[in-house]
Amino acid sequence: MPVMHFAQRSLFDPQNIAPGVLSPGSLAHLLHALGDDLVPGFLRAEWRGAGKRGRPAWPAARLLALQLLRWSDGGGGRLGACERAKTDLAWRAAMRLPAFGPSPTEKTLREFEHWLMGRTDSCDLRRYEVLFEGLTLRASGVLSEATWVMDGTPMYCFGALQGTVRMLGDGLRGLLKRWGRVRGGTLAQVAQRLDVPWVVAKSIKGGLAADWSDPESRRAALGRLVRDVIRIVAHVESEIHEISRANRTFLLHRCRDLLRVIEKDIRVDDDGHYFVQWKAGDDRLVSITEPEARSGHKSKQSKFKGFKLTMLGDLVSGLIAAVKVFEGNQAEGRHGVELLERAKRLELSIDRALGDSAYGGTPTRMAIQRLGIELVAPPPAVQLKDDAPLQKHEFDVDFESQTATCPAGVTTADHRMGPFEGELRSVYEWPVDACRGCHLRGACVPKMRDDVKPRGQRPKGRRLKLDVNERELRRARAEWPGLREEYRRRGQGERLVARMVRLGSRQARAFGLEAANLQVHLIAITNNLSLLATHLQGRAPEQPTLPLWGTM
Ligand code: SF4
Repeated sequence: MPVMHFAQRSLFDPQNIAPGVLSPGSLAHLLHALGDDLVPGFLRAEWRGAGKRGRPAWPAARLLALQLLRWSDGGGGRLGACERAKTDLAWRAAMRLPAFGPSPTEKTLREFEHWLMGRTDSCDLRRYEVLFEGLTLRASGVLSEATWVMDGTPMYCFGALQGTVRMLGDGLRGLLKRWGRVRGGTLAQVAQRLDVPWVVAKSIKGGLAADWSDPESRRAALGRLVRDVIRIVAHVESEIHEISRANRTFLLHRCRDLLRVIEKDIRVDDDGHYFVQWKAGDDRLVSITEPEARSGHKSKQSKFKGFKLTMLGDLVSGLIAAVKVFEGNQAEGRHGVELLERAKRLELSIDRALGDSAYGGTPTRMAIQRLGIELVAPPPAVQLKDDAPLQKHEFDVDFESQTATCPAGVTTADHRMGPFEGELRSVYEWPVDACRGCHLRGACVPKMRDDVKPRGQRPKGRRLKLDVNERELRRARAEWPGLREEYRRRGQGERLVARMVRLGSRQARAFGLEAANLQVHLIAITNNLSLLATHLQGRAPEQPTLPLWGTM
């Protein structure tokens, strides 16, 4: 039987039809060279169709290559990617498909994404995390003199942002649709049965038949909406035990989200009138279809709704070592520590990391120090208040001897550590006699009384309440002037963000936080393999010699 030599190609190979279609140094060229080695053997074995039974499925490596090509193109839709894979010779060559013939469908691509979000059989990581870590480790050959930087940027969620009334109305409609599917009946029939006919109207506000410009009518409609939602949630929860487990999760989650919207957004006045009122930063929902999306801020002025993306990368080579998407209202610092932990797991050499003030908080700084990494980030600025008494940074504290000296030069050793107003604090107190005759008393303890208080309390001198991490904070502030010059390089880290955004990470392309995490990991793999492809340009031989996964 004739055996095809490795240098021979099929007549219908895209490279025969269009020589040079794979330009060296391109991502497509690298993907072609890697072939099945793009996905480790143990993951390939978990993908459907790998067993002896059933129909053969598209190989996992082909589907991953298609995903990476999709994101290299700025992240079009799945359908667009599948259509392009039918005709684009470079893409077909990258996926090792013949020039003519079938290509994966959108449904297959969606199922592959779902599979990537699952956890592997061999460890507790999600499959896309395993792929990201393995491929990033292999792409780390592009690193030379690395300068690591952490940065974050908003990521808009896929679902529509909604106001309170729409969240309740659309949320209830979705709940009833699913309820009808599992209990029998169309939306109209279920709405009739449960006495909420307004829910079938095209517009929720229109269906409630209220004059929304009239406060009285608006309050009445809102009251009806809230009461209906509470009643139907109670009805669904009372019968949930009769529902299959597969449908139960959606129904319970939707009930929980509807009640959360009511809890966070709706108030009742003394007359029993309902009105919408919410507090910024109250962890409220902004979309019923994206219950993990939150209001966040990039800076004091710039606010957004959705998720936040944070990344750790090398600003010299552009390699992304770790990425994560989380709720928009969470602080970046804690997630920055997690990124560094993941990068350490890859055994990348990181001894310093640059970050902006979002990563400069003392708990973050201490957690990063524990990883053996030095953080170059501005410490929290001293909060100056015009009308406040002498502020704590104006007092000298000797943390070794546990004494403090005030601006008038009086030293106190009256120190205790304990709960104060619900938080653990380190408290120093000055003798009342010293403060009573002090020339700074008006600026330091303006409210101090000389006489005994009505309930027999003695007047007290100045109290200095410090955070338990004050020592580290002061040390960071003292060291900061010497780090400013190095910190200037952090600005170049914006290029990492810009590259991730250019590849499509500004807007989530599917519902949910997990899908957003999958998306940014695929984008980061695309970025890293593109860098590797450029790095290998001129070195890579014609045939694949890039064993990525060793004996996995
Ligand atoms: S009021 Fe008391 S604590 Fe304040 S500066 Fe004077 S002596 Fe020191």
